Amino acid sequence: MAESNFIDYVKIYCRSGRGGRGSTHMHRAKYIPKGGPDGGNGGRGGHVILRGNRNYWTLLHLRYDRHIQAEHGGNGSKNKSTGRQGADRYIEVPCGTVVYNAETGEYICDVTEHEQEVVLLKGGRGGLGNFNFSTPTNQAPRYAQPGEPMQELTVILELKLLADVGLVGFPNAGKSTLVNALSSAKPKIGDYPFTTLEPSLGIVSYRDNRSFVIADIPGIIEGASEGRGLGLRFLRHIERNSILLFMVSADTSDIRKEYDTLLNELTQYNPELLDKRRILAVTKCDLIGHDPELIDMLREGLPDDIPTIFISAVSGYNIQELKDLLWTEMNNESNKIAAITSTDNILRQTKRLSYTPDDDDDDEGWGDDITDEEDDFEYLDEDDIEDLDEDDFEYVDTPDTQ
Ligand code: GDP
Ligand code: MG
Repeated sequence: MAESNFIDYVKIYCRSGRGGRGSTHMHRAKYIPKGGPDGGNGGRGGHVILRGNRNYWTLLHLRYDRHIQAEHGGNGSKNKSTGRQGADRYIEVPCGTVVYNAETGEYICDVTEHEQEVVLLKGGRGGLGNFNFSTPTNQAPRYAQPGEPMQELTVILELKLLADVGLVGFPNAGKSTLVNALSSAKPKIGDYPFTTLEPSLGIVSYRDNRSFVIADIPGIIEGASEGRGLGLRFLRHIERNSILLFMVSADTSDIRKEYDTLLNELTQYNPELLDKRRILAVTKCDLIGHDPELIDMLREGLPDDIPTIFISAVSGYNIQELKDLLWTEMNNESNKIAAITSTDNILRQTKRLSYTPDDDDDDEGWGDDITDEEDDFEYLDEDDIEDLDEDDFEYVDTPDTQ
């Protein structure tokens, strides 16, 4: 399918959670004067995860939440308690979203499928608590591992927009006015190589942060006679059902006739367009005073094989109803999502590593040389911990559920 040059994009700062510190706690109990190290592991920090969601058709909802921060992991504590896992943060994106590094411009991944998850930033793994480090020769290690640091990244999410609703009407039908009345955002429009005809595109926000794209498509009508026919390029016909919204002004002498003329032009231009769902909007109803009797009368002569709605972009009459109707028709029947691009480059969701805390509580073998001095049992400060030989131990992935 031809690509459109309509682009919706948003820049977002993301930060994963840092891993929790391992604990350096020494076990103490009334009748066990010389307990061993029992400092638990830190919990892992939250990931930042992109998730494809076919209910989102634009990036509009992300414009209001441009700082995505996952939670930090909790520190380990005594009794080998593992710190709490930091909650992951999900970024819901429409299928077809491409992700770039905002600083370098480097391509990161595509999210193409519903419920596809891509870990954008991994949360830091938790540090190991001191109980992991006891050896026959060092039975009371007083060091533990710091958690892995968090990661930060500013990304650009980009979505090539294809119109969900294409407007079909003769000049002056009120198409541009309707696009403006419905739109909550105007996407950037890239180079438009074809003609001087300016496509006019709007993102319509719907309930619950949903949105869809409406386009006043030059070319279906204006370009048809000149053999240009740009319109079709901008209509989705693979991933989802697009709709043609026919527009005829209420003060037209014969609304039915004008609709038939439009339909006829379309058919000549491309008969496949007849397969698309159609809705007829009778526009500028403020000009007839929104008169219910007149509207009923006009309705009589209109085609009964497609939904018809009387609106006014100027007064707002039936505009919400129009959105509802478009949304319902769009989500009607099959809502097919096809993979838009190859998924080869996608960073797959990281394998969930599982970690089973050592439940062997047998402290047998702990030497007698463990000091009872309270001071010796304190946490090391960060500098001391960093001085430890990192090769001596490994980071740990903490369990996902605790
Ligand atoms: P387009 O050529 O189909 O894009 O039509 P426009 O949106 O440019 O509108 C053509 C003319 O009709 C302009 O003068 C608009 O102000 C006017 N118009 C558009 N919508 C309405 C409406 O709902 N009520 C009234 N009274 N005038 C409208
Ligand atoms: Mg116009």
